[in-house]
Amino acid sequence: MILVSSCLGGIECRYNGSHAASAKIRKLVNENKAVMACPELLGGFSTPREPAEIIGGTGEDVLNGNAKIVTASGEDVTELYMKGAAKTLAYAKEISASAIILKENSPSCGSGFIYNGTFSGKKITGSGVTAALLKQAGYRVISENQLDDIL
Ligand code: SF4
Repeated sequence: MILVSSCLGGIECRYNGSHAASAKIRKLVNENKAVMACPELLGGFSTPREPAEIIGGTGEDVLNGNAKIVTASGEDVTELYMKGAAKTLAYAKEISASAIILKENSPSCGSGFIYNGTFSGKKITGSGVTAALLKQAGYRVISENQLDDIL
């Protein structure tokens, strides 16, 4: 079973209430080859919510306590992001995920790129906190831009 970001499956769970549906991922879900999870909703957020970015590093740094996740208005929401990451990892274990496809650029789901913490639209190389935790646990995590690698 493949685990995918809910917003890639068409759920309107992004911070601004939108989705990021991919026809290929929706097909996987419809064929019962993939299940969806949104780490931020699992962590306790609702939609819509304030955008947040990792300040001072990447998802790996957040896991190590060396960076934090802060909203555009300055609220430290690291704990909720960590909770969402842990719940997503537990779900991946529960379904024995064979692959994980997460939405690129998100402070939770980004697996190759994230925003740089300045809320200016600039990106850096690195993972969001959920993708980092899943990678540390040994899972293969790819983005919607790498679907051809596994499909
Ligand atoms: S946390 Fe992940 S699944 Fe949820 S809206 Fe953000 S990118 Fe999509």
